[in-house]
Amino acid sequence: MKLEDGWITSARKVPSPHFNQRPESEIPSLLIIHNISLPPGEFGGPWIDQLFTGTLPADAHPYFADIAHLRVAAHCLIRRDGELVQYVSFDQRAWHAGVSAFAGRENCNDFSMGIELEGTDILPYTDAQYETLQQVSDLLLEHYPLTLERITGHSDIAPQRKTDPGPAFDWVRFKDSIRQENP
Ligand SMILES: [Zn+2]
Repeated sequence: MKLEDGWITSARKVPSPHFNQRPESEIPSLLIIHNISLPPGEFGGPWIDQLFTGTLPADAHPYFADIAHLRVAAHCLIRRDGELVQYVSFDQRAWHAGVSAFAGRENCNDFSMGIELEGTDILPYTDAQYETLQQVSDLLLEHYPLTLERITGHSDIAPQRKTDPGPAFDWVRFKDSIRQENP
């Protein structure tokens, strides 16, 4: 994998308008792992791309009426088959974390990068997802002032509001996989 201007060259690019500039050219130093599925518990379909680009049709599913207006996007999504989709350059401030804090600092969007895994809190993620996540994480660890201790879950930075990536996410497996490349 390679990065060019904060974009992973091999990712499928779906540019989102849901970002702005980081404060004072802040260099991102935190990686947040999320999950998402639309409708909840269902996989596939164009819905996540549409939500993250502000084009989700509110009438396509009863659940969508509540979320179609949201202006949100992660930097990347890893689908069940391991496909990598990128919506926002890592150098820009994507709107994925919401009200949040890490190590005493609020507004994690300012200084973090967000990766969504297509999934739910309780269903095991796929081998292909762990494989792609390892590759992306290795790339980000190489290019940004990131450490293993600064890779965390959405539920850790917004514990009152969020549960993702949930107990289904195997942190030991994931961190062991990147530790081999980044001792
Ligand atoms: Zn999340």
